[in-house]
Amino acid sequence: MSEQIVVNSLEFSRNAKVLRGKIAIANLYRLRDYLHSADGVIDYKLSGEVDAEGNPLLHLAVKGKLCLKCQRCLGELEHDVELVSDLVLIENEQEFPEITEENEDVDCILAETEMDVLALLEEEIVLNLPLSPMHETGACSVTVHAGGEADQSVFAPLAALKKSAK
Ligand SMILES: [Zn+2]
Repeated sequence: MSEQIVVNSLEFSRNAKVLRGKIAIANLYRLRDYLHSADGVIDYKLSGEVDAEGNPLLHLAVKGKLCLKCQRCLGELEHDVELVSDLVLIENEQEFPEITEENEDVDCILAETEMDVLALLEEEIVLNLPLSPMHETGACSVTVHAGGEADQSVFAPLAALKKSAK
């Protein structure tokens, strides 16, 4: 069963609409590769706004816990997701502003009459995931030697040998 939530993004922002909900992590298909387990839910709030300059914006807040895979031991790694993004709606592709130092933190998305809210959520979560999630040294089941990062393919069997020799 998959849910779909669709809004007209410009209309949503101009009317300052608010949409809150919870989405099962199991429904966020793009996250699957990163997950150790797809249990749990993510809370989200999408609100529309028009800024002082008259630009339509979407404000997205996402909160929840993901159970990621540790890239060192492939074990379960809890990851708090708490992100807030402001997305400026652009009505047509030619209007995308050039990226300058002033606006590099501003995210622009194309306004859509049928914007898929869950796809947007997924996108924002994936963009904000750590590149290489790992347990803290010591909490990981793969031993890391002081002063060096473990490369799992090379060091993991060695670390395991040393452990069992003790
Ligand atoms: Zn680990």
